[in-house]
Amino acid sequence: MEEVDLFVIGGGSAGMKTARTVAKMGYKVAVAEAKETGGECFWAGCIPTKALLRAASVWQMVREASEFGIHAGELHGDFSEAMAYKKRIMQKLAGDSPKDAGLSKLGALYFNEKASFESANEIRVGSQVIQAKKVLIATGTDPSIPTIPGLIEAGFITNREAVDLEYLPKQIAIIGGGPIGLEFGQIFHRFGAAVTIIESASHVLPREDSTVAMLAQESIIRQGISIKTATSVKSITRSGNCKSLILQTAMGEERLECDEILISTGRVPATKGLNVGAAGLDDDGKALKFDLMLQTPVPAIYAAGDVTGGYQFTHVASYMGGVAAMNMFGSNPRLADTRVLPRCTYIDPEVASVGITELEAKAANLPVRVQCAHYSDLDKPVLYNRTEGIVKLIVSAVDDQILGAHILGDSASSIISEVAVCMQNRLPVQAIANTMHAFPSFPEVVEAAALSKDIC
Ligand SMILES: Cc1cc2nc3c(=O)[nH]c(=O)nc-3n(C[C@H](O)[C@H](O)[C@H](O)COP(=O)(O)OP(=O)(O)OC[C@H]3O[C@@H](n4cnc5c(N)ncnc54)[C@H](O)[C@@H]3O)c2cc1C
Repeated sequence: MEEVDLFVIGGGSAGMKTARTVAKMGYKVAVAEAKETGGECFWAGCIPTKALLRAASVWQMVREASEFGIHAGELHGDFSEAMAYKKRIMQKLAGDSPKDAGLSKLGALYFNEKASFESANEIRVGSQVIQAKKVLIATGTDPSIPTIPGLIEAGFITNREAVDLEYLPKQIAIIGGGPIGLEFGQIFHRFGAAVTIIESASHVLPREDSTVAMLAQESIIRQGISIKTATSVKSITRSGNCKSLILQTAMGEERLECDEILISTGRVPATKGLNVGAAGLDDDGKALKFDLMLQTPVPAIYAAGDVTGGYQFTHVASYMGGVAAMNMFGSNPRLADTRVLPRCTYIDPEVASVGITELEAKAANLPVRVQCAHYSDLDKPVLYNRTEGIVKLIVSAVDDQILGAHILGDSASSIISEVAVCMQNRLPVQAIANTMHAFPSFPEVVEAAALSKDIC
C-alpha cells in the first residue's frame, strides 16, 4: 500500500494551499479532487461571478453615460457575449496550468477522483487505498436545496448552472437574499431580466449590519429589482415553461410566475460519500467538529475551508489551509484567528464589512460608540456621481479600538482593507484619523468616519 505523510481531500482554495505548503516543506503529499482543481471559487463562485458583475457594471455605466455628456449612439448589452467574456477571463486566469495545478512538479501525487475514508489513516481513491499519516478534509460545500413542494419537479438552477447559462431568463425568481442571490440578481437584472428576490428574514444580507443591509436593499429596489422579505415559498408548480410560486408573505398568499428559479439559500458541508464515520468522525451531514488548531476529534484528521461551516470565503479557506499545514507539519503551531475577516458582497454599490456589528456589540454588552460618515459628504463620490453610501465604525469606548466596520458604497471591498489593517494590529481609531488621506479619494470616507462624532 502506498504511504504518504499527508492526504488532502479536495483541491479547492483550502486543500491546494495546504498541499502546496506541505509539499514545499519536503513531505510526501497526495491530493484527491473529484472535479477540477480550483474548487467552487474558480469554477462556479468568485471568478465567474465577478467577471459577470464587471460586465454588468460596464453595461450600466454605458447606460448612465449621458449624465457625463457622453452619447454613445444605439446601445446593446448582450448577455451571451458577457458569458463569453467570463469564459475568456477564466481561460486567461487558468493559463496553461495542468490539471493537477502543478502538484506533481512539487512531488505530490494527484488523483482526479472522489476520495473516501476506509479508516482514519486510509483513503480510498478508485481501486487504490493510500495510507496517510495525516489527512486534511477540504471538500467545501454544496448548495443547500430547500424542501419546497414541487421544486424538484419544476426544475431550478444553483450558482453552478447559473454561471454557464446560455440564455437570459425573462423572469427569474431568486430564493435567498444573501450575497450569492444578490450578485446573480444584479447580473440578470442589468442584462434585462425581471428579477424577484425572496428572502425569509426581515431584510436581505441578514448576516450584515442592519443599517448597511437596509441601505443596500433600498438601493437594489431603486434599481428595479423586486425584493420580498419575510416571505417564504409554500409550493411550486410548472406548466410548460412557466413556473408558478405560491409565496407566503406577511400580508397573505401571493403568486409569482417566472421562467427560471435560482436557489441561493446557503450551503451544506460536502461530506456526502466521504464515509467520515469510518474515520471515527460524526457522520450526521453537519459541519465537521474541529478546534482552533483545525484538528478534528480524531487527532490525525484536520479540516479547513468551507467544509468547517464558518464564514465561507476564499481568503478564509486559503488562510485556514495555511494554518492546518503549519499545525500538522510545522514547528510553530498556531490558532486559526478569524477576528479580522473581511466579508464582501460585490453588488453595486458594494457591501463590505469586518469584525462585529452594532447588534453583536450590544448583545455582548460591549461599551461601544458608533461613528459614521456618508459618501455624499465627500468630494470624490460627488465628482464621480457615486454618492450612495455610508461607512459605519463600531469603536470600543474603553480603548478606542475598532471592533467592526460596515461599508456600503463604491470601492467598499477595497477600502475595507484600511480598517482591517488597523484592527489586525489593534491600533486605535485615531490611527486612521491622524493619517493623511489623498484628496480626493474614496478612503477619505473612512477617515471622515474615524474623525466623526456622528451616530448613524
Ligand atoms: C456564487 C459564489 C460566489 C462566491 N464569491 C466569492 C467571492 O467573491 N470571494 C470569496 O472570497 N469567496 C466567494 N465565494 C466562496 C468561495 O467560493 C469559497 O469560500 C471557496 O471556494 C472555499 O474553498 P474550499 O477549498 O473550502 O472549498 P471548494 O472551493 O468548494 O473546494 C472543495 C473541493 O473539494 C472537492 N471534493 C469534494 N468532495 C470530494 C471528495 N470526496 N473527493 C475529492 N474531492 C472532493 C470539490 O470538487 C471541490 O473542488 C463564492 C461562492 C459562491 C458559491
